[in-house]
Parts: sequence; structure tokens; C-alpha cells
Amino acid sequence: MRFWLRWKPTCPARPSSKFIPNGPVVTVIRTALRVEGIVQGVGFRPFVYSLATGLGLGGLVGNDVDGVFAEVEGPPAAVGEFLRRLAAEAPPLASIERITTRAMAPAGAASFEIVPSGPDGRRRTLVAADTATCADCLRELADPADRRFRYPFINCTNCGPRFTIVRDVPYDRPFTTMSGFAMCGLCAAEYRDPGDRRYHAQPVCCPACGPRLTLLDAAGQPCPATPAAISLTAGPLDPAGQRDRAGPLEAAAGLLRDGRIVAVKGLGGYHLAADAADQDAVAALRARKHREDKPFAVLAAGLDAARALCEVSDAAAALLTSRARPIVLLPRLPGAAVAAAAAPGNRDLGVMLPYTPLHHLLIEAVGRPIVLTSGNVSDEPIAYRDADALDRLAGIADAFLTHDRAIHIRTDDSVTRVFRGRPLPVRRSRGYVPEPVAVPVGFPRPLLACGAELKNTFCLARDRHAFVSHHIGDLENAETLRSFTEGIEHFRRLFDVDPRVVAYDLHPEYLSTKYALDTGDVDLIGVQHHHAHIAACLADNGWDGGRVIGVAFDGTGYGTDGTIWGGEFLVADYAGFERAGHLAPVPMPGGQAAIRQPWRMAAAYLDAAGLDADRLDIARRNSARWPAVVSMARKGVSAPLTSSAGRLFDAVAALLGVRDTINYEGQAAIELEQLASPAEQAAYPASLEPGGPFRVRAADLVCAVAGDLAAGVPRDVIAARFHNGVAGVVEAASLRLRESHALTTVALSGGVFQNMLLLNQVVTRLETRGFGVLTHSRVPCNDGGISLGQAVVAAASDRPGSGAQPADS
Ligand SMILES: [Zn+2]
Ligand SMILES: [Zn+2]
Ligand SMILES: [Zn+2]
Repeated sequence: MRFWLRWKPTCPARPSSKFIPNGPVVTVIRTALRVEGIVQGVGFRPFVYSLATGLGLGGLVGNDVDGVFAEVEGPPAAVGEFLRRLAAEAPPLASIERITTRAMAPAGAASFEIVPSGPDGRRRTLVAADTATCADCLRELADPADRRFRYPFINCTNCGPRFTIVRDVPYDRPFTTMSGFAMCGLCAAEYRDPGDRRYHAQPVCCPACGPRLTLLDAAGQPCPATPAAISLTAGPLDPAGQRDRAGPLEAAAGLLRDGRIVAVKGLGGYHLAADAADQDAVAALRARKHREDKPFAVLAAGLDAARALCEVSDAAAALLTSRARPIVLLPRLPGAAVAAAAAPGNRDLGVMLPYTPLHHLLIEAVGRPIVLTSGNVSDEPIAYRDADALDRLAGIADAFLTHDRAIHIRTDDSVTRVFRGRPLPVRRSRGYVPEPVAVPVGFPRPLLACGAELKNTFCLARDRHAFVSHHIGDLENAETLRSFTEGIEHFRRLFDVDPRVVAYDLHPEYLSTKYALDTGDVDLIGVQHHHAHIAACLADNGWDGGRVIGVAFDGTGYGTDGTIWGGEFLVADYAGFERAGHLAPVPMPGGQAAIRQPWRMAAAYLDAAGLDADRLDIARRNSARWPAVVSMARKGVSAPLTSSAGRLFDAVAALLGVRDTINYEGQAAIELEQLASPAEQAAYPASLEPGGPFRVRAADLVCAVAGDLAAGVPRDVIAARFHNGVAGVVEAASLRLRESHALTTVALSGGVFQNMLLLNQVVTRLETRGFGVLTHSRVPCNDGGISLGQAVVAAASDRPGSGAQPADS
């Protein structure tokens, strides 16, 4: 409390005059200030210190539970200059949310000091995300004269691990997985020196005192570094044994060049690496992981290497080199030196650049791009604990490049696209989490939103901050469920949120819903899935206007009428929604089986359209089960009704022979998009039946597809006309709602809008019609964004006197 008391007003502020012998009388003022945001563990105090001392100001700076506090004293012009540069020149990892100032009486301070941190109270400060190695560290990494030359764990205040090593707050070394490494004298001196780049950098270390690399064989036994490997290492041999330590790295690189698969311990988990150009190695990795088709990401050494593989726009280059270093999905160049098995049937390739010193050293030693995919089997969560990784990845990896710095929390790589020069997140995780998503309206009470079932994230929120979690994954096995429950506990501690309100999806079978309903003594608020999608899009855009037209297109979501929704036109704000229109429902023959086997949706749609499918290839291909599936659809036995847009895309993909069954979620729709010819402008029509809610006859689109198919129109043209037709439906529905509700803004959300061809068509058509269009750029439009949507909806109905009902009934 000592420093809090210091903060309280002392006496009415008035400038004082200071007498300097033989000099003019100078007016002196003292200003107290408070800086809130991500300002701890990012070098903020040394920045304030050097800024103040450089301007000849006296005073102090320190950390407390609310952020950074400071007092500066000196001539008014210098204090003004200090305040101006404080925001303008803040350290790279700082994120200032608010600076408040207050005049104080001058205290005659001649020097400037960094005062000790205040006592721990409420933990209101924010933990930074893991950050890619900075330019200064890279320079040292490459400098033979530097004591951290080629040291794979080099970091500083401006870069390195954060979220993945934090066990508890305050963010201090004893509460990180670096606690077991005692700093050597040189590191400790840097850590204590306010003028040093490593002042209070919690993960600071060097070859003498920090983590070490090890190479283990497939059985988990240490591999002796080969003499050949050691001889590859440049640089002086020194007592710290830098050269020895480079051994495992060079040996691992040699294995990769030889076509072997190496598990590499990263920031948030283990990756599996293979030479990206080596078809045999990549195919072996695919077979051993039991991952049939889902694309692998590729690590390229730098922008030039990425440009040799893909088309890299300026916006994409900015994302690739950003400190979050996500995987960016980019158009692959014809003839790019990447094995076909890396991303089969896909025109795009996920590329990322190195974000740890280990990556930089490894990719340099291999000398060409490598596949770097999550260390898991099939759809299991990524392995992050050493013993577990050795166990689960045995049989996949030929060797393990590992180290002794523990990963506290599993965090997958983030994945993003670029849409019209802005990021379009697919998965928001490592590099972004746990930085909060600021929302335009605050949370009246602390809140937990449990998210959806697939691509789960949860969200803890208080004040103006929504802490959307890292990617948890599909809540369908014990391991993911444990990540979910442990993750919630971790975030509660980290951000001091004790939820009084818990928001959940209406689907009674979601494990996240069951978890919510099991929490005692809180107010529970159910949020309809597509309302959550639209609210997430509004919050993503900082929307604080009124109602909008919300177009929520996704795979499945539980509707308020107990049917499966997913092609929804809502009139919505945060507090509530009206289902204004939707795709006309069709049966899903076999329920879940229809999701895995898109041909079943084609059968249901063809039947709904009243078409005789006998002459179509799809009926011949699936002739054994076709009549039974059609009859299931007609009788409504094991055939729940759905208005899902995702299932419509599945039906058309199957009809065009893209695929009858899928190996990963959304595969048929993704491949249908890949098939479509971007040059084709014609669109199939679909009628909107009157009524409230109005119904879109999506079967019209399927009819048109079947007709063109029979007429021999090329499949790429048909696929494009279908996409354009769906965009036309969104346009027509939006025009109708503008007419009836006088609304001019459309929010687009739901996993179907990861389809760039569709999104581009829809946005173009709506903008041409004069609509304002909101799309995602901070959280995914897929179910990874649901928790944020639930949080803002629940907050809106939690506001005193809101009287709002989150779901219509
Ligand atoms: Zn650095
Ligand atoms: Zn050291
Ligand atoms: Zn959804």
C-alpha cells in the first residue's frame, strides 16, 4: 500500500521556483501519471527512466497492481515533452490503454529513480503474449564476439517467451518456468541495470546459466553429437561450451536434410519437422500422424524464402514479420519447391517465419524450408510436456530436439489469412493470447464465457477487457477437456477474474455447456450460437451502434426451436436478436454421418428440389446406400432438419464430385472453393419466400448446379456460379431487411465466411449496394470467436435495467 499512499493527492498543485546560483529563476512543476495497459515485463520502467533522465527531469517510476506509476518534476516544457514522447516512443511490446495525469506540488527532486514494485494486491496488470526474437537479439545471435552467439534461448525485454512460461502473477521469474535457472553474474548484472536491454527481462539467460538443447533418439535416449555435426559449427570454443551446445542442433538439421522426421520443442508445444521439398519425408510424416489431407504449415527462413513459395502481398509480409508470427495462408506459386503431400488439393500454403532463436538456427542449418506441424497424432491436442511428447510422438519422430525449459501452457500456432489488406484470423493463439480484446462496452460483473464445442476457446472478462483464451480445440476427448478446465483456472488466477456470470451455448450436448451448467452460485446466461457469432463480429469491430443485419453462415449451431441452424439472417445487437430469415431447412440423413459424408446432403437436397437423381454420377457412386438415405430424409427418421449453409456447400461439393466423404472439418467446402473459377461472374438464382422469418430456397441453387452438370458445363464454372449465387442470396436478403428494418450495416460471421471467394463476392455486392460491412480481423469468424460473442451478449443482458433477453423465445 506504500506506493498507493504516495499516489494520493498531496496538496494543491502550484508551480514553485527554483533558485539556481548564477542562473535565471526556473519554474518547476511536478506531474503524477499513471499508465495502464500492457506495461509490465515489457521494459516500460527503464524506458521512462531514460526518457526522464534524458530530459533532465527528477522523480520516480514504479510498478503496482494497476500498471506503471510515475512522477516527473522539472521545467514545464520538459515535462510536456516527456508526456508527448511517453506515448509516442513506448517500447515495442507495450500496449498503452490509458495515461492519466495529475498536477502535484514540486518536491525538489533532483534525481530520477526506479522504485521497488508495490505489494501484491489485486492482479490487474496484463501478461504479454509470446513474442518473436527481436532484431537486437538476432544481431547478437549472429555475432561471434557476443557471449550469446548461437545460443538458442537468447531473449530480452523486447522479445521471447511470456504467456507460455508464466505459472502465476505477478510476472516475475520465480513464477515462470525459468525459476529453476539461477542467473549467472553477467546475466544478473544486466537484469539489474536500468540502462540495459535486459533490465528485468524475466527469461534472461545465457549459455552459462540457461536452458540447454538435447537431441534424443526415437527411443528417447540422448544422441551423442556427431563429430561431423560439431565441425559444422562456426565460432570460437569457449568455456561456456557454446560449440558443444550447437551439436544437437546441427545433428538435427542433418537428420532433416537426410529425409528424417524430427520433433522440435517450441514455445507452446512440440512440432514435427521434415524437409518441405522431400515428398517421401512429408508423405511419411502424414502417414505416421494419421493425417490424410489436412495441410501442413511450412517454416521459411525469411521473406525471400517465403516469396519463393507463395505470392506475398505487402499486408501478408507485414503479418509474416509481425511479432506474433502467425501461420499465414498464402496463394502457392506454381512450381514452388514444396512436396505435394504438404498441402494436397490446396492452392494455398500456410507459411510462417522463425519466431524463436532455435527456429532461426535450425532453418539456417537445414538451408531450406521445412514442414513444421503440430506434434500430435490425428486430431489430438499438441504435445507440450516432455514425457508425454516422447510417449505420444514415439513412432512418428526419428529424433527429438528438446530442451529443459518447461512449457507451462499448451499454445498452438496462430493461423491467419489476409482479406483486403487486413488480417482475417482463422485461429487466434500463440503470439496473440493472452492480450485482451478491448470491447466498446464494459462488463458489469466478472464473467466467463465457455465457448462452443469445436475450435473451442473460452473467455474471461472484467471491466473493459475480454481475455479470449488460446485455441483449446475440439472438446471431444479427455485431454482437450482437461486443457479447457485447467485453462479456465489458469486464466482466473492470471487475470484475477472470479466470474459471477457464466455464459454458454444453448446446445445441451456441448461439453462446454455441461461445464457451465455445473458451475455453482453464478448467474447462467444461455446465448444462441449464431447470435454469439454476430456479437463476436460486432465486438471485433468495436461496434457501439445499434442493431445490424447479421449474416451467420456456419456448419451447425443449436437453434432456439431445437433445430440445427447455420444459414441465418438475424436482426441483432449485443442485447438480443430476431431470426429474420434463414435457408429453408432440409433433412440431414443420419445426423453426424451427414457431416462426415457430404453425399448424404446432396441426396437430401436433390430430393428436396424434387429432382430425379438416377442419371447423376453421385447416385451411381453411392448406389448401395442412396435409396435408404433418401428414404431416411423423407421420413425424417434420424434426419434432423437444418438450415446450415455449411451443409449446402457440402451438398454441392459432393454433387460436383469434389468429395463424397471428408477427412477433416470443412474439407468439402474448402475444396469446392479451390475448384471455383474466380473469373466466372454468372450467378445461379434462388428465391426468397415471403414470411417472417423469410426462407431462402437454397434447393434452387442445387437444381441449377445439377442442370449445368447434366449440360456438360465445366465444374470450375459451376462451382463459381454457385458461390456467386450464395452471394446473391446474401445481397437479396440484406436488401429485404434494409427495406423492412431500415438497417444499413451488415455483419458477416460464421465459419463459412472463411471462404475467401464467397466473402469477397458478398462484400463487393453489399458495398456496391451502399451497405456498411463488418468482417472479422481480431478473432476468428469460426467457432473460435464464439466465446467473445457469448461474453458481450451476456454482459449486455447483465447490465442493470437492460431487461434484455439474450435469446428470442
Ligand atoms: Zn530481444
Ligand atoms: Zn547467464
Ligand atoms: Zn458456428
